Amino acid sequence: MRPMPKHGLNSSRPIVAVALLFLFIAATTRAQSTRPDSEKQLARDIYKEFIEIHSGYNSGATTPVAEAAAARLKAAGFPDSDIALGGAIDKKFNIVVRYHGTGKQKPLLLLAHTDVVEAKREDWTLDPFVLTEKDGYFYGRGTGDDKAQAAVWIANLIQYKKEGFKPDRDIIVALTADEEGGGPYSGINWLIKNHRDRIDAEYALNEGGWGESLDGKKISNDVQVSEKYVINFRFEVHNKGGHSSLPVPDNAIYRLAEALDKLSKFGFPLKLNDVTKAYFTAMAKIETGPTKDDLAKVAAGDTAAMERLAAKTPQFNATLRTTCVATQLEGGHAVNALPQLAAATVNCRVLPEDSLEYVQNTLKQIVADDEVSIKTTDEPLAGPASPIRADLFKAITESSNKVFPGVPVVPMMVMGATDGKYLRIAGIPTYGVQGFFFDRNDIRFHGRDERIPVQSFYEGQSFLYDLVKRLSQ
Ligand SMILES: [Zn+2]
Repeated sequence: MRPMPKHGLNSSRPIVAVALLFLFIAATTRAQSTRPDSEKQLARDIYKEFIEIHSGYNSGATTPVAEAAAARLKAAGFPDSDIALGGAIDKKFNIVVRYHGTGKQKPLLLLAHTDVVEAKREDWTLDPFVLTEKDGYFYGRGTGDDKAQAAVWIANLIQYKKEGFKPDRDIIVALTADEEGGGPYSGINWLIKNHRDRIDAEYALNEGGWGESLDGKKISNDVQVSEKYVINFRFEVHNKGGHSSLPVPDNAIYRLAEALDKLSKFGFPLKLNDVTKAYFTAMAKIETGPTKDDLAKVAAGDTAAMERLAAKTPQFNATLRTTCVATQLEGGHAVNALPQLAAATVNCRVLPEDSLEYVQNTLKQIVADDEVSIKTTDEPLAGPASPIRADLFKAITESSNKVFPGVPVVPMMVMGATDGKYLRIAGIPTYGVQGFFFDRNDIRFHGRDERIPVQSFYEGQSFLYDLVKRLSQ
């Protein structure tokens, strides 16, 4: 803009000038928070294509998604030799594409999964497999989990190539099958096992962390650095039983009930690890209400404050300790017989640093009854936390400040599980970071009418565009 001349203006001019200045600022701000229209359009086109492919975890196929991505990449000039398609079975293909850098640094892996949780048309207000833009939202199965990130990785990679961007490391995008529920066709497991060289990287960016907003205000840009893991136990009591007309004190159902009653009154020790310490430190700065003091005290390791906070919300409680809760019950075989079996499933969400043996032994001590057998029903898989790398968090914070000025970046341990766990176990630290903002009270992943604010989709695209560049030059 030109400076305004100091003379020759009538009184109405400065107002016009001020108005123009505001327009200019508004236009500049908008230009910074999202990518240019042509790039937004490309991301949207790919997104639409992905959403409209039925890739339900049980009933669908991910191969058409991998093929659609491959077609886009080839059209943009990526050579066949840099694109690989394959998977555990024909309909569960993954795609891995490599964008070559100078090799100064080890590669960066960008991960997203292309399967989705099943969605039935009759359960939804809109067709879950049509990308619908309505009232400022994109609706459709996978709009949040996880096709937004999948589409953005591909669109941004095409843009880097178009610009002739020369990264100082290879950028690898892997779009994988069957994250939801894992199982035999898990794309990430298949790649780790069969094509480790294709995805080997210094670290990976993935789903699992997103932006939290409340009433339209952005609160935090979350980065997932660790996950709790799941152990399912079966509590079982056997008894010789008998006729119900001749009851005896030793009863399988009562015995199980007593064990569960003890469990219900027990809480695992409250504690911090590196990630939750960083989380509470960040939250203490964000929070303005009465919890602010306790958050700071918890970050400093104050046990009394931990107890107050854990009592306040299930989320704080689950962040501060391993939890175990009874979720299923069975027992007895006839209305007129003493029960020969009583059993319960106890579902534990375990801090990464707590071992299976520790949890199992603790439960045995609490129950303190040899008649109650406590066994795992599946093979639990614990994953380490990713280190909180200063260089990475600096880059995330810089990119975040550019698109979401003033919104803090918060490291998180999450209660749910992602493919990041398998990569962490395989020695590739993984960080869940997206920059897609969702209302913290309206998370619809896996649910009906899944959606993402349209603006959030494009801002996430812009944030990830900037972040990946920053990490590779
Ligand atoms: Zn997901």
